[in-house]
Amino acid sequence: MIPYGRQDISDSDVQSVINVLNSEYLTQGPVVPAFERVIEEYTGVKYCVAVNSATSALHIACLALGVGEGDIVWTSPISFVASSNCALYCGAAVDFVDIDPLTYNMSIDSLTLKLELARKQGQLPKVVIPVHLAGQSCDMQAISLLAIKYGFRIIEDASHAIGGKYLGNRVGNCKYSDITVFSFHPVKIVTTGEGGAALTNCKILAEKLFKLRSHGITRVPEEMTCESHGPWYYQQIDLGYNYRMTDIQAALGISQMRRIDEFIDKRHQIAKKYYELLSNLKLKLPHVEQGVISAFHLYIIRLKLDEVSSSHKEIFEFLRKNGVMVNLHYIPIYSHPFYKAMGFKVEDFPQAESFYSEAISIPMYSSLTEEQQEIVVETIKLALDRVKLL
Ligand SMILES: *Cc1c(COP(=O)(O)O)cnc(C)c1O
Repeated sequence: MIPYGRQDISDSDVQSVINVLNSEYLTQGPVVPAFERVIEEYTGVKYCVAVNSATSALHIACLALGVGEGDIVWTSPISFVASSNCALYCGAAVDFVDIDPLTYNMSIDSLTLKLELARKQGQLPKVVIPVHLAGQSCDMQAISLLAIKYGFRIIEDASHAIGGKYLGNRVGNCKYSDITVFSFHPVKIVTTGEGGAALTNCKILAEKLFKLRSHGITRVPEEMTCESHGPWYYQQIDLGYNYRMTDIQAALGISQMRRIDEFIDKRHQIAKKYYELLSNLKLKLPHVEQGVISAFHLYIIRLKLDEVSSSHKEIFEFLRKNGVMVNLHYIPIYSHPFYKAMGFKVEDFPQAESFYSEAISIPMYSSLTEEQQEIVVETIKLALDRVKLL
């Protein structure tokens, strides 16, 4: 059985975790800040706030930007539900911008049209959350120009994209956004077991994020409303959460980050081979824009449905039955029952619907061997051929 994605854990990763288990602190020790420094150095961002998941990072990112009741947040419908749930946690409303037919990221044309309409209706979004699907950065320069024109803030959901580049800069440096979020779930590029981070270049936002991560509590005398009562004293000055990452997780993260370039190289080699071996089949292969280096978290193929006689579902089932554990990223968020009840209509998202009817994520992870990759390709060929005979 070949999964679509999995972690890559080395002996030194294991040793790093053991070292923390044998140390003084399991949480709130020195390792989380050390991990944050590693992420800052790697991406070139000023501040990294490590948390227990990307979902938590998205939530406190929205809060730090002031999202609340009466606000609207826009994101891509082709994403994990966390990209939009974060707005609902804050009491805000959510809406979706259809995807680009080539990159499957938020379409700049649709965004532009929707913003113009929203301006006329007085319903502009407070925050837009572009999602870097499969590890490919969105056109952040275009989105940031629209942000200036229409006055919204930007959170990049870069859960798939640590290690990727946009116009020569590492994703996460926040050159074109207020906050960028990473995920360190085991299927992502690097892992901490569960974990995430919110990155920003803005000191005020960073301070808000730090406080929201840990109950809204401060120990900084300048932030308190009165003089300290004594060495034990702290104040809760906002309503925060316990979204802390542990030192155990951070140790794994630091160790994993030593191999991130190796992981990305390996993913690129695998992608290159897929492009070679799958190019003449009845498939649409991933398109990466000029100026972008994808982190290749996912390798998403699309079936040319009008050229094959079998259905998307049949091909998907055939692959799974034959040990290739393909997946589908993603079910359009608006089509989940919880969202459907809000009144979203599939007709508003023709590109997302078309994507959903054709997409399959095939195995892509740094420890995928050449032999396994060949099995994947042969099984795909079989699935498509079998289709022709039916
Ligand atoms: C994985 C993922 C998340 C959530 O990450 P967690 O760390 O599991 O909370 C959010 N958005 C996208 C696009 C993801 O792929």
